[in-house]
Amino acid sequence: MLNIIICGAPGSGKGTQSELLVARFGLKHLSTGDLLREEMGKNSPIGQEARRHIEQGQLVPDEMIARLLAEAIDKAAGEFRGLILDGFPRTVTQAEMLEEMLKARKLDIGLMIDIDVSEAELIDRLLKRGESSGRSDDNIDTIRKRLSVYHEKTKPVSDFYRKQNKYAAIDGTGSIDQIQGRIVKALQEA
Ligand code: ADP
Repeated sequence: MLNIIICGAPGSGKGTQSELLVARFGLKHLSTGDLLREEMGKNSPIGQEARRHIEQGQLVPDEMIARLLAEAIDKAAGEFRGLILDGFPRTVTQAEMLEEMLKARKLDIGLMIDIDVSEAELIDRLLKRGESSGRSDDNIDTIRKRLSVYHEKTKPVSDFYRKQNKYAAIDGTGSIDQIQGRIVKALQEA
């Protein structure tokens, strides 16, 4: 069974590439950003707390997001051939929590795919997305904050998987198909 992490800065195309991998390999896609937006949509207590962090471009607390993800994995149990985790882990603490969470469920991670895109292109893409997404965090101030949080907190997560030989950096520029081709190749070589 194939369980993968797809990671990359905001705007790197993780969501788009995840959907293509779902179609190709029958994976279950779990996006922590989507789980949080669902809670915000319901205006649940978790959603209300999440909104305060997200609108500042900050991460939500590790424990909160780990709990939401574990629930989503358990809800999907039995209906997937493998998992594709999108947006998690975003901190080294979350990576450690994930190890425990998966071990308890007799699962593990095969590969982390890190999609690499230049900062100028990321800002350009996110501003464009903001015109149609209606996402309150796709504005220039929040985008800058999210990118700086990404460099500070999420970049170190790649070393965690690199040390375990479970890491592949992918050039995230070019057409959607080209990028998908690079990801599939990395998965075949893993
Ligand atoms: P993007 O990758 O474009 O930032 P996401 O949809 O993955 O978009 O996440 C949106 C926001 O949700 C993040 O900026 C962050 O505040 C919050 N979030 C998502 N995943 C996590 C996580 N694993 N830990 C903490 N916060 C998260």
